[in-house]
Amino acid sequence: MNEYKNVLVVCEQRDGNLQSVSLELIGKARELADELKEEVIAVIAGKKVSDLTQELISYGADKVYYVEDDKLDKYITEPYVKVMTTIINDLKPQIVLFGATSIGRDLAPRVSSRIGCGLTADCTKLEIDEEVGLLNMTRPTFGGNLLATIQSPEARPQMSTVRPGVMPKQDEDKNRTGEVNKYDIDIEDKDINIEVIEEKLADKKKIKIEDAQVLVSVGRGIGSADNMKLAYDLAEVLEGEVSSSRAVVDAGWVEKDRQVGQTGKTVRPNLYIALGISGAIQHLAGMEESDLIIAVNKNPDANIFNVADVGIVGDINEVVPELIKKIKVAKANN
Ligand SMILES: Cc1cc2nc3c(=O)[nH]c(=O)nc-3n(C[C@H](O)[C@H](O)[C@H](O)COP(=O)(O)OP(=O)(O)OC[C@H]3O[C@@H](n4cnc5c(N)ncnc54)[C@H](O)[C@@H]3O)c2cc1C
Repeated sequence: MNEYKNVLVVCEQRDGNLQSVSLELIGKARELADELKEEVIAVIAGKKVSDLTQELISYGADKVYYVEDDKLDKYITEPYVKVMTTIINDLKPQIVLFGATSIGRDLAPRVSSRIGCGLTADCTKLEIDEEVGLLNMTRPTFGGNLLATIQSPEARPQMSTVRPGVMPKQDEDKNRTGEVNKYDIDIEDKDINIEVIEEKLADKKKIKIEDAQVLVSVGRGIGSADNMKLAYDLAEVLEGEVSSSRAVVDAGWVEKDRQVGQTGKTVRPNLYIALGISGAIQHLAGMEESDLIIAVNKNPDANIFNVADVGIVGDINEVVPELIKKIKVAKANN
């Protein structure tokens, strides 16, 4: 058991672009490794990935292992499982983190089953148990009604997939140095059991509320689809995006892409304005880490006020137009 050391992050690239979840995981791995007085190892595979290695170091990795092969151009399960299983068996980390993306969710269970260790999926919190030194892996379960904290006391490594958007990235430090290792793995034809014939990208415009610095988030209190204009107007003056609770998505007033919460996106903007959102636990799970939360609700007992930094008890229809007016004046004077 003692031979297992360090925190390894399985990083993800698509078409040569590093995915932001990998940097989030390196940030978290950095914290865990510092606590354990161990190192952060980043592993990345693809057709051409050597130019991504410094970025991984800048965000907190101590060592990067990269595998380059034309056969790893697109994600295919079998060769990627071979690469990650080989490296993990070789480096013997005590913790391995994957992003809970479509790729990570496909890859992690296969890797864990080949290695013979446990896997906790879709974690939203990771910390070292101070008493026993094991990784506490916390994830929502039963549709978000229960939080389960899971340990893997016997098998190594302790493995988990982690929900994108939950862990904070470290600040980039371009001067940070680390060790970069090229790792050769022979990918044979027999490892390629799938042929990608065609790739079709959905051409709908993706709304990325998780990248917005300012979110104007709307709850059922907005009252109607027509009234959504108020939120869009406020978002416009603040140069932000509109997001919502699930109730608003269910009512068909906005696209599902804008939903915040347990079954939507996890966001962490600088400013989150909650308009007519009651603050159900499934909603809070997706936004309570926002830097500044302003809530407008006509019910002074609404649960959202428990997480709000600034609370306004009032009717959206009165408060929001007033806010827009004030912000316009403030901007004009600046
Ligand atoms: C398994 C599961 C998963 C879920 N996942 C999610 C999720 O991902 N995201 C999510 O958001 N929810 C989720 N939910 C639903 C969640 O439990 C709540 O039902 C939902 O968040 C409520 O949305 P709301 O706050 O917009 O609506 P309500 O709870 O109906 O709240 C409306 C609020 O608006 C206020 N209001 C009304 N009129 C006005 C006005 N004119 N001015 C000011 N305030 C006003 C009211 O006082 C009230 O507080 C999930 C539920 C389950 C069971």
